Amino acid sequence: MPLAGARLCGECLRQPPAWSHAIAAADYDFPWDRLVIDFKFHGKVELASALAQRLAGAVKTSASLPAVDIVVPIPLSASRLAERGFNQAWELARRVARILGLPADAAVLLRPLDTAHQADLPRAQRAVNLRGAFMVDPRQRLRVQGLKVALVDDVLTTGATAREAAAALLRAGAAGVQVWTLARTP
Ligand SMILES: [Zn+2]
Repeated sequence: MPLAGARLCGECLRQPPAWSHAIAAADYDFPWDRLVIDFKFHGKVELASALAQRLAGAVKTSASLPAVDIVVPIPLSASRLAERGFNQAWELARRVARILGLPADAAVLLRPLDTAHQADLPRAQRAVNLRGAFMVDPRQRLRVQGLKVALVDDVLTTGATAREAAAALLRAGAAGVQVWTLARTP
């Protein structure tokens, strides 16, 4: 959560996250909430460039973020991808990576389970819903082993999704994970 001065918020002190750093370009509030909804649910993929520029700008101007080696999006399950037609996290991730001159890879992290929509669940059930939802493709382990990974998503809310995905990357041997999101639910 946004802080003045202190390095860790109360939430992180209570339950240390799997990631070393998290950054959000904006609060999930007007106008970003509307833009994200248009982008994600109304198929306005053309918004991706402007949103990615905003996120890349936040990463570039953050003094506290160490360098990363590769950018990886939070994956969608196959059926969710078929339903939406695109993965909004990948549309952001690949553009942010290009702006920052980093490699991006959407094939590393897999989402074999088709879990319920996080937004439909009470907060307490969100973590349970995602348990085991992510895995690193065993054939792609070398793409993350020993590397610092930036995990990209559109919105960070409870952090349950990012937590599970980061844990999967670390289990596969990633040296560290940062979470880069466009917006953070205040
Ligand atoms: Zn925190």
